[in-house]
Parts: sequence; structure tokens; C-alpha cells
Amino acid sequence: MGTSVSSRAAETARSRNSLAWSLLFLVFGSAAVVKAETEKTYINVYGQVKCYAEALVKPESTEQLAAAVKQFADAAKQSSKQLKIRTSRSVFHSTASFACPYTSDRIPTAPDTSAAAPSYVAVMTEDFNKVLQVDKAAYTVTVQAGLRVLDLLRWADKNGMATELGAPTNYAELTIGGVISANGHGTGFNITSSMGDIALEFTWVDALGTVHVSSRDSPEGRSLAGGVGLIGIITEIKLQMTPPSNTKAVSINLLPDANIAADIRNFLQTTKNMALMWRPDLKKYNAFLMSKTDEKAKPGDHAGLTFPLPTPIANAFQLVLLPLQADVHDTAVSRSLNPLNCLTALTSVAYLRWASKSILPQVPGAPLDLAVAQIKAVGSTNVMMAGGCEPFCMWNSELTVDDVEFAIELDDLPAWVDDVKKIFQKDLTEDGRAQDRCLPFGGYVFFRFGKGNSDYSSVTSGMKSPVYVELMHVKSRKLPGVPGKYQFVQDALEQLTLCKYRGRPHWGKNYDRAWGHPDCPMRERLPNFDKQLEMQAKYDPSKVFEPLLMSRLIAKQPSIYSAGCDVQRSCYCTQDVHCGQGFACVPLASFPQYKVCKPSPLLPKLG
Ligand SMILES: Cc1cc2nc3c(=O)[nH]c(=O)nc-3n(C[C@H](O)[C@H](O)[C@H](O)COP(=O)(O)OP(=O)(O)OC[C@H]3O[C@@H](n4cnc5c(N)ncnc54)[C@H](O)[C@@H]3O)c2cc1C
Repeated sequence: MGTSVSSRAAETARSRNSLAWSLLFLVFGSAAVVKAETEKTYINVYGQVKCYAEALVKPESTEQLAAAVKQFADAAKQSSKQLKIRTSRSVFHSTASFACPYTSDRIPTAPDTSAAAPSYVAVMTEDFNKVLQVDKAAYTVTVQAGLRVLDLLRWADKNGMATELGAPTNYAELTIGGVISANGHGTGFNITSSMGDIALEFTWVDALGTVHVSSRDSPEGRSLAGGVGLIGIITEIKLQMTPPSNTKAVSINLLPDANIAADIRNFLQTTKNMALMWRPDLKKYNAFLMSKTDEKAKPGDHAGLTFPLPTPIANAFQLVLLPLQADVHDTAVSRSLNPLNCLTALTSVAYLRWASKSILPQVPGAPLDLAVAQIKAVGSTNVMMAGGCEPFCMWNSELTVDDVEFAIELDDLPAWVDDVKKIFQKDLTEDGRAQDRCLPFGGYVFFRFGKGNSDYSSVTSGMKSPVYVELMHVKSRKLPGVPGKYQFVQDALEQLTLCKYRGRPHWGKNYDRAWGHPDCPMRERLPNFDKQLEMQAKYDPSKVFEPLLMSRLIAKQPSIYSAGCDVQRSCYCTQDVHCGQGFACVPLASFPQYKVCKPSPLLPKLG
């Protein structure tokens, strides 16, 4: 009896499997089926978010993708299943779970991998990377959504085109479809500042597998740009390019930060394509000023902020960080290593420039008008405004990055800067009693600039003069349950920006918790979000493209609290249990209304 039950079960499983296989065969042919059966997970580049899917497919054309969506939708309907589809790639760059149809942390039961009609489907765009159509006279190009920004720029360089300076993401190893969906941006103060700004038309697929073509300024276009794929999958994008141009990038390093907010206003008077890197602990900042120029390109000059770092060197940095990070209670180990940590941080800021070919460091403390303190680089706009580092990106080593970003109003920047300084003063250096503390070398605030729009769920929708404030933190991968050194500073800045300054989280550059702060809910901050939901009701009433995190945001539900959720960045702690081992959830000294995980007992007595 037992044998016949199990053989019946095996038979059923075989027939369900064969149904699933034939479904995938129908859509993609045998090569894709193999991938669909073996690669069920995909992960983000920093290693924090793991997505699961029952079927994982890699279409190569809009038609293939549309047929796949239709097949999955029909199969789900026949078996009365709720289907979830998300679009991403094998190693994606979002830090939020919007990229996943399913994440193990959030849904308790594992997916039924033998299901003939999968519930969780991932569309991978890496084979979706071609330039499709070019109009040289009009400077337009139509590309597939999986093409990386960097590949577009390389193509443009060879084909006598460029982009507006602000359009490309400054780190360009990102897909154009992902960037537009997540509202990714470059920098341009109230001018072109994102790939969404140069999009003219989208081809996209809705939840029934129907293909649409929508202009950028149609309701559908406003729903897709910055829309996190809520109404459908963008498959092709027509982009407005420009004639070829050259860009001059001036990097001015180690400026004193006493008047940084006023300095920013002054710089913006003349330079719209600007970025700044600020180290509040070192009281210094670097200004990067980019502008179009008629000057000739200097051979070899190129964007260099995100530069290739050979893995052994990155691992050597990690060796300095490891004992610091492990020494959570700031004992003698930290006290002996802190000066080296600060020096490494200072050296890295002195070194970093927007673009150059030189490897010589800047002159520390040189005044603004001293030419030697400035590195000037000139090159094709395609190589000056954006770059990459693969395969030698720092995060491919034993180092990883915690990175968050919000858009706030420029008018609020002076007060925000003062508050940030207060956090460093009161919480990091404990009112000057621990002057030797610095964030690790990658711990800085990065400013870029954007423009408001009338998109339905774009980050800068309805904003006047958005400033993107990004808070970076680098840590060792070797201590997975241990926060980065002084990471509570980043946690403090994150809550301050989110709550007091009503910061809008970048859809691809924050952790899930940014959309679930119990006291600072996000939905009302997006003034056109109801229109987005109307579009969803029109094109995806079954919510096939709505990931769980988005469902929670729409329902205004707070983050899910669990042991260690603050360490995993899925909540802001309210109790000690949300922190890691040896940490306590305590109010900030600077802003007691926000709680962070600090080493327990709260940093030991100094001196
Ligand atoms: C090292 C690094 C550098 C970064 N630099 C920048 C930067 O300079 N500027 C900036 O703004 N951001 C930047 N980001 C943030 C962010 O990850 C990207 O803007 C964005 O997520 C694109 O990454 P991706 O191509 O891997 O897309 P994904 O992470 O795969 O996708 C982003 C989101 O869009 C959805 N999606 C993807 N493709 C489609 C599609 N075709 N149709 C519909 N929905 C889709 C996904 O489901 C996901 O929710 C950076 C991130 C990292 C890790």
C-alpha cells in the first residue's frame, strides 16, 4: 500500500513537473528551461537580499516575455493560484526586496518547487540587452530594458552620440529598465538628472501578457517611470540622446565643512551637474563640479569615483576593519586602531576625485582657489559622467556596503546639515570625549541633485528642488551578525532624514525598513500615489506585479519585527531583542525620539 501511494505521489509529481517543463519549453525552448530549473535564487550585489522563484526565466525579446507572462497567468488562473512576477537579474543592485517575487525572510513556507503552475516567477533581464533601433538624425535610440547604462554609453561613444550630463547613473553597471523603474538618477539640479528624464517611449507588458507602447508623458509613462514595475514590465525604451559632447570635471578636495550648506547653494548658482562627498567626522568635504565644455578631451581622463580595486587590496582594507568592527565595546583595540582608521578615511577622501587619469593624491587642506588642490579632467561626456568597476568592485571582496539614500528639499538642507553635525558630536564623539572616532573609510554622506516631476510614484514626484542625500557605510563580510563600526551613526541619520525631513527613500537604494517605519509612514509622501493605484487597478487588478513589501506600503503596515531585525535592516529597533548580540536599543543622545542599536552597555565609560 505504502509503495503504491508513494508511486502515485511520484507519478503525480512527475506529471506536474512535466507540465511545468512543457510550459517552459513552449515559451523559451530547451536552453532557458535548464536555467529555469537550476537557478531558483538570485541575490543582490552586497549580499543582503536573497530572492526566490519557482520559475526563473530569461527572455530575449518582448514577444518571448509577453508569451511567458501570458502562459504563467493562464496557468495560475486555471489552478486558482495567486501569481507573483518580478523582474530583475542574477546579481541585482537594489537593496530592497521589491526585486523579489518571494523572500524567505518574509513568507514562512518554502515555495512548492514541483508546481506545474508556479506562483513565484522571476524574469531575468540579462539576455535582454540589445540596441534595437537608431535614428541618427533625431539622436534617438531604442534599447532593451536589460541593457546596462554603461553599455549604452559605450555604444553612444562609438556611434557619435552622448546623453545629457545628468542622465546616467554615476555608477553605470545598472540596467536601464531597473534604473528607470527604481527612479535611479545621476545629478542635475532642476535639470535632466535621470534616465527617466531622457526616456521618450516605453514598450511594456501587462499582467495578461499584452504588449503596450506608451509615451513617457502619458499616464502609463508616468506610472512606469519610478513605478518599481507595479503595473508591468518595461521591455524596450526609446531614449533621447544628444550630439557628442565633452565634459569637464573639477574635483576640489578636503574643503572645510563649516558652511557646507551655503557653499552648496553657491556652487549650484553656476554648476548644476554637481556632487559632494562629505565626512562630518573629519569636518571636510569634496566638491565635484561637472560642466559641458568645448575643451578637447585629455587622453585617459574618465570617471573614477567608483574605481576598480584589486581584490587583495580591498581585502587588506578589510583586515584593518575586521578587528575594529569586532571590537563592538570600543576597548583598547579600537583605541589603538582608531587613529589608523581616521587616517585611512582621510587618505581616501584626499584621494577620491570625480574623474582623472592621475593616481596622485590631492593636497590636503589646500584652499579652494589654489589650482593644485583641484583635479581637472576633460573627456567625452559618455566616459566622464559615469563608470564602473566590475569585476574588481570593492564589494566583490570581503568588504560590503550598507547604503541608504533619500530625497529631501534643498530648503531643508541647512537644518539637516546642522542636525547631522549634532549626531556626530553627541553620539559619535560623545560631546568631544571620544574625538578619535571616525566612520570607516567608506563612511560618508554623498550629495546629488535632481528635479521634481509629476510621475505617480517617482521619488521626486511633486518636489521643488530635490537633493539626494546618500549615507554610506563599509563593513566586513566576515562578521555577518555584527553591525559595521559605529553603524548607529548611519541608523541615526537614516531615521532623522526619514522622519524629521520627510525624506523619500530611493526605491532601489534602501532597506525594506525605510518603507515601514511605524511613526513615519511613506505612502502620503508621494502626492500622486493614488493615481498609481488607479493604473494598477486598470492593468494589474490581480496584483501580479505587486511584491509583498509594496502591499505593506500600500496598506500602511509597519515593518515586521523579529529578533535581530535591526541588524538585518528590516526594522528600526524598539527593543533590545531587535539588535545584535551585545547591543541594546537606546535613544540617541542627540535626538532621543529615535532609537538605535548601540553596544551594550551604551558605549563604555571613556578615559
Ligand atoms: C554599487 C551600486 C551603485 C549604484 N549607483 C546608483 C546611482 O548612481 N544612482 C542611482 O540612482 N542608483 C544607484 N544604485 C541603486 C539602485 O540599485 C539602482 O538604481 C537600481 O536598483 C538599478 O539596479 P539594477 O539594474 O540591478 O535593477 P534591479 O535592482 O534589478 O531593479 C530595480 C527595481 O526595478 C524593478 N525592475 C527591474 N527591471 C524592470 C523592468 N524592466 N520593468 C519593470 N520593473 C523592473 C525590480 O523588480 C526592482 O524592484 C546603485 C546601487 C549599487 C549597488
